[in-house]
Amino acid sequence: MAIRIDGKALAAKVKSQVAAEAAKLPRKPGLAVVLVGEDPASQVYVAGKERDCAECGIESFGHRLGAETTEDELLALVRRLNGDPRVDGILVQLPLPGHLSEETVINAIAPDKDVDCFHPFNVGRMVIGDPVFLPCTPAGVMAMLDEYEIPIRGKRCVVLGRSNIVGKPMAALLTQRDGTVTVCHSRTEDMAQYAREADILVSAVGRTGLVTADMVKEGAVVVDVAMNRDGDGRLCGDVDFAAVEPKASCITPVPGGVGPMTRACLMRNILTAAALHQA
Ligand code: NAP
Repeated sequence: MAIRIDGKALAAKVKSQVAAEAAKLPRKPGLAVVLVGEDPASQVYVAGKERDCAECGIESFGHRLGAETTEDELLALVRRLNGDPRVDGILVQLPLPGHLSEETVINAIAPDKDVDCFHPFNVGRMVIGDPVFLPCTPAGVMAMLDEYEIPIRGKRCVVLGRSNIVGKPMAALLTQRDGTVTVCHSRTEDMAQYAREADILVSAVGRTGLVTADMVKEGAVVVDVAMNRDGDGRLCGDVDFAAVEPKASCITPVPGGVGPMTRACLMRNILTAAALHQA
């Protein structure tokens, strides 16, 4: 039976390290959290991030804007936050309402406050291996692999999904650690054939039941990034956990796996930004 990777426990450890480091800074780190509209899932995520900030001794400044907010208004707020010395990090919760360009808004965030690591400057730095911040979800996955002493060098890694926030940076970080990486996506023919070769299989697609036991090699490490809802509305991943767990050597559960680590890595990025600003 596979070892279950405990993302919740590791996240608690990371957050207590962040709290200890934050307490040593002359000024409390600050995060501005911008939420546009009333998407219920976004409201839950934002509340969670604000709770994490409180736990880590990070001040959070909430900005709740109506769904009808114009792009100019949102950009004006971002520019104001860019210049606010109490704010070390700016988080604009995605997705934004359809009339707002996520790209334009992300590009307006000062790169030294881009704690999500979505700005092209930070993505570029990460890809060349000289990062300021690391993208939270892939960084959380790497931290879990390291905590459980899972070797990456020379291993066959397969990433399902190629989004800018998960799949692509995940592939970049695994490559930097000497993994041999294959990225699959919606146009991949016979994805199962690639998945079966994986020593480390990371699924970040967003489809319940996508990864079945026959797609997993005996002894593989299986990381499930997805956060889906099953027919009963319960949180679940892409991986058929009950069927895959007996074949895997290590596996992340959903919930309690990658999700908490994503949040913990955000706290780490805010600490990094605060340390830079107060150096
Ligand atoms: P996304 O932007 O929708 O990207 C999904 C990716 O999956 C795309 O690259 C898409 O391919 C690919 N895909 C879609 N259907 C596929 C199929 N049938 N076979 C193979 N690939 C397929 O999603 P995302 O933002 O990366 O998020 C992915 C999942 O992770 C979601 O469940 C999300 O909720 C979750 N997530 C979790 C965390 C966390 O903290 N745990 C953080 C972020 C996201 P194309 O590029 O060809 O369209």
